[in-house]
Amino acid sequence: MIDLSVMPKLGFGLMRLPENDGVVDVEQVKRMVDLYMEAGLNYFDTAYVYHGGKSEVVAREALVERYPRDSFMLTTKMPIWSVNEDADLDRIFNEQKTRAGVDYFDLYLLHSVEDSNYEKYEKFDVFSWALKKKESGEIKHMGFSYHGSPELLPVILDKHPEVEFVQIQLNYADWTNPVVRSGDLYGILSERGIPIIVMEPVKGGSLASLKPELEDKFKALRPDSSIASWAMRFVGSLPGVMTILSGMSTEEQMKDNISTFTGFEPLSDDEKKVVEEVTKIMLDTPTIACTACRYCVDGCPMNISIPDIFRTVNTIRLYGDGFRPHAFYNGLIQTHGRAGDCLSCGQCESVCPQHLPIIELLSEASGLLDKKD
Ligand code: SF4
Ligand code: SF4
Repeated sequence: MIDLSVMPKLGFGLMRLPENDGVVDVEQVKRMVDLYMEAGLNYFDTAYVYHGGKSEVVAREALVERYPRDSFMLTTKMPIWSVNEDADLDRIFNEQKTRAGVDYFDLYLLHSVEDSNYEKYEKFDVFSWALKKKESGEIKHMGFSYHGSPELLPVILDKHPEVEFVQIQLNYADWTNPVVRSGDLYGILSERGIPIIVMEPVKGGSLASLKPELEDKFKALRPDSSIASWAMRFVGSLPGVMTILSGMSTEEQMKDNISTFTGFEPLSDDEKKVVEEVTKIMLDTPTIACTACRYCVDGCPMNISIPDIFRTVNTIRLYGDGFRPHAFYNGLIQTHGRAGDCLSCGQCESVCPQHLPIIELLSEASGLLDKKD
């Protein structure tokens, strides 16, 4: 059992670290780690695949080599899509320990379990493998991150009572999103009393800035609070949420989140109503539900920066067509493929946890962006 009293409400997700020319800015990460630790917070979440495999290394450089091992909790994940034979499990795990410079992980997750890969997790018996790692002390607690359906989740939980926690995507915009169905997943886990770690509380940053008329609704109630703080307070107000991960990229985001969780104020009834109102209006303006996880990017043969293109399309959908999205796109395609370069090979769609029809969406993006160069 995880001692919930030692888990901080705000976790530092190491998946969107600051970069300079595509290389993680380790000095800035060190400053962010220091700010976070000074605030009395100590939970760090990395993964084998984050930042093309560099995130675990940065965890060592910015955290493990600078703080006593018992002063922080470090979590990483097993990616089943990199496993082709039994021996890969130990090989990847040992590599993770070396990268991160640790001899144990506090929490360990089976990464991104969903309907399309669950059988592979069973085929390689990864749950039993993780239990053995727990017995040997190399993992303190085991769970999984989940991007699947509410139908499959109880099946997994029934079969694996050894699971100590589950990490799900949860934010106010996805609560009733028919693809993510956060509210249903939350209901299943809270009914069973399984501690929840929240990922994507700000939906990959898209709930950090909204249409002006929506921001006005929040600002009318709390003029000095950031728009992102509403998303964080929404998930932080839900019972059963153990920790909320934020993939912070700047010291400003770090400070804002720390201030939200210092003397945390749950949403009042009036504030909940405003969040519901904003959600309803947002759902009436459909945007591409890309969380910028970037799982799709590495394998694209045309080097198309899919999440950046989707962000550009969303900007146009939300704020109208203008100079800025085109200027951004024209800069992007100096180093990456155009939306119209897509070969329809489908590699990206096979790894997208949001199940987005990427090929079709890129075709739309090409119509909006490529013709105007
Ligand atoms: S379908 Fe298009 S965007 Fe996706 S990986 Fe293939 S070429 Fe890249
Ligand atoms: S398109 Fe899908 S896989 Fe790619 S960044 Fe967006 S959510 Fe992630």
